[in-house]
Amino acid sequence: MKGGIIFMPYKNGKSAWNFKDLTSKTFGRLIVLDRAENKHRKARWNCECQCEKKTKKTILGQDLIRQKVQSCGCISSENNIKRSTRHGQAKTRLYNIYLGQFDTLEEASEARRQAEIKYWGNER
Ligand SMILES: [Zn+2]
Repeated sequence: MKGGIIFMPYKNGKSAWNFKDLTSKTFGRLIVLDRAENKHRKARWNCECQCEKKTKKTILGQDLIRQKVQSCGCISSENNIKRSTRHGQAKTRLYNIYLGQFDTLEEASEARRQAEIKYWGNER
């Protein structure tokens, strides 16, 4: 059996990563240096953040792949700064249309389909 290949859209055109070897791959600001010891039987990787601090971190492979971790923590602290500076300025208006609650995925997707036809027309 072959190792799991994970397909994800990615900016630089790389759409497939070999799950078993993440060495030299980049995830956000993190560059994978090499494999670290497993923790609870899960693969971990030694990563280096490309920010000023060049922080080294050991991160679970699954967190990298699911993009849960994309920096040493600097991105989230920058986001916090952005969020607090944006406060008080004109907000971008988001359009969320509440369609109700549904018991099954089928009902929900049908409701969404109907809503798309209603709001955007039937040309899709
Ligand atoms: Zn960083």
